[in-house]
Amino acid sequence: MSDTQNYNPTLRIGVLALQGDFEAHIKMLQTLGVEAKAIRLPEQLDEIDGIIIPGGESTTIGKLMVIYELHEVLQRKIRAGLPTWGTCAGLILLARETDNAVASQPLLASMDIRVLRNAFGSQRESFETDLSVPALGDEPFHAFFIRGPLVEAAGPEVEVLAKLSDDTIVAVRQGNIIATAFHPEVSGDTRFHQYFLRIVQSVKG
Ligand code: GLN
Repeated sequence: MSDTQNYNPTLRIGVLALQGDFEAHIKMLQTLGVEAKAIRLPEQLDEIDGIIIPGGESTTIGKLMVIYELHEVLQRKIRAGLPTWGTCAGLILLARETDNAVASQPLLASMDIRVLRNAFGSQRESFETDLSVPALGDEPFHAFFIRGPLVEAAGPEVEVLAKLSDDTIVAVRQGNIIATAFHPEVSGDTRFHQYFLRIVQSVKG
């Protein structure tokens, strides 16, 4: 383990691979030298130290989680402390509440946040911006928002990791769970993935 890494390459990270851009996360994790597994079966959740829920379409991923019998067991594991990171649709799935009109949308409800889906309207549906993320150091993080959500309200246990210049909350942490409204896996900047790996490492000990 090098000084700059602060995590062990033996960490096994699952990426929920039902729909969306799971492959980009897997590639970035492989670049960082850890084992990355595409997760499609409930029993695979016993073989990982942390999990990423990727961007995609949150209603589709939510329905597929139920069909693949992953919803309840994943929810239980996250409640029991499994380090988890949701990006974009993944952030929506981790929220306790969304503005989604589809009442049947299954959520993991693991974070005390309320989110607005597709929050940036047609003009800014997709945009890029440099974000200040103090947890990653002084250098701004170039963030890609792709029809992203925003965090409308966050409970007292939620730490805000990043905001847009107008104070819109776009990255949060609650214990071992982090969620970003944007897509670090397409940025070429590995700092968010390293930050997550350090959380996984601290839980694994
Ligand atoms: N708009 C999508 C949703 O509501 C999220 C988009 C994304 O993950 N890039 O699920």
